[in-house]
Amino acid sequence: MAFGHRYTGLIDRYRDRLPVHDDTRIISLGEGNTPLIRLNNIPRELGRDFELYVKFEGLNPTGSFKDRGMTMAVTKAVEEGSKAIICASTGNTSAAAAAYAARAGITAFVVIPDGKIAMGKLAQAMMHGSVVIQIEGNFDDGMRLVKEVANSAPVTLVNSVNPFRLQGQKTAAFEIVEELGRAPDFHCLPVGNAGNITAHWIGYSELAAQTGEHVTEACTFCRGHCRFAGGGVTGQRPRMVGYQASGSAPFLRGAMVDDPETVATAIRIGHPQSWDVAWKVREESGGWFDECTDEEILAAQKLLAEKEGVFCEPASATSVAGALRDIRNGKIPEGSSVVCTLTGHGLKDPDTAIAQSSRTPIKVRAELDAVTRAIHDNMG
Ligand SMILES: *Cc1c(COP(=O)(O)O)cnc(C)c1O
Repeated sequence: MAFGHRYTGLIDRYRDRLPVHDDTRIISLGEGNTPLIRLNNIPRELGRDFELYVKFEGLNPTGSFKDRGMTMAVTKAVEEGSKAIICASTGNTSAAAAAYAARAGITAFVVIPDGKIAMGKLAQAMMHGSVVIQIEGNFDDGMRLVKEVANSAPVTLVNSVNPFRLQGQKTAAFEIVEELGRAPDFHCLPVGNAGNITAHWIGYSELAAQTGEHVTEACTFCRGHCRFAGGGVTGQRPRMVGYQASGSAPFLRGAMVDDPETVATAIRIGHPQSWDVAWKVREESGGWFDECTDEEILAAQKLLAEKEGVFCEPASATSVAGALRDIRNGKIPEGSSVVCTLTGHGLKDPDTAIAQSSRTPIKVRAELDAVTRAIHDNMG
């Protein structure tokens, strides 16, 4: 890399593929460009031959992939003269909205469920000075309310129903293809509203079109905002696999779920906003949906932390929990390349991490022999 090159965020980097103008004021915190980490220890222990990567989106500025969408949504809101944004959130959208609104100098209203929000996420929304409205209801109730509010009040809705969100989020697919030199065979994600799985499919589809393979049908995913709005694409694209938490799995039930429940609060969503398009993503990509229990999710979170040094939040580990199961049962064949998106950082939800940790601190006297003994007793 040349000296003096500063990474200035994904809009600058992919400007030619995003809906911005030369004079658009970009609201950025340097999001994107997250590491694609190849897992070593987990595949070795499984004894199967495959390439397994995690795209660690927890290393975005506010600790989740929501920043990719929020830099676009807030940039466009500001461009359109908006002075305030609003979102419903299980936590990460509100953290991102609060931070990018602070950066832009506008107001963020965030509607969150009472309780059931991870501590780190609440701290972020408060610290960035957003107006936090806690409702006696769940995410789906919040979503219904903010959609109505945004119709009557002068605020821009920045949930993933805002099409600019998905435009920003599609850049994760660009980064993966750039690093691997091709699309992976399988791309696994946790699914809540199903915006992110859709955004990745938009990204892969744009690249497939660019690399020459031909257009067969209209691009139905971008809601008119991608370059292929008039005619869609085929080409080398991954199978998209979406995993949900069992207690919150409308795509597995084939119908909305009214009282979603899971330890993975970021995907505790019973009425997904991208319902129709996500089914199309599954169909077009030849992928599938499946579910993981809370126990499987927490076990995968711990496995990643203990065996690979990667600490993600529970919802994120759903992608790895599902992928490992489908590798074991052969649904993902040997020799495949697999990317799992780790959507958010483990530090978002320290309470869940500590509650399920099998290791507790060893208390000893502040003396050499006591510490030496503790080390000796716990070697290997
Ligand atoms: C938002 C979020 C998801 C779900 O993404 P959707 O686009 O709603 O499917 C998963 N994990 C984390 C950590 C999130 O913040």
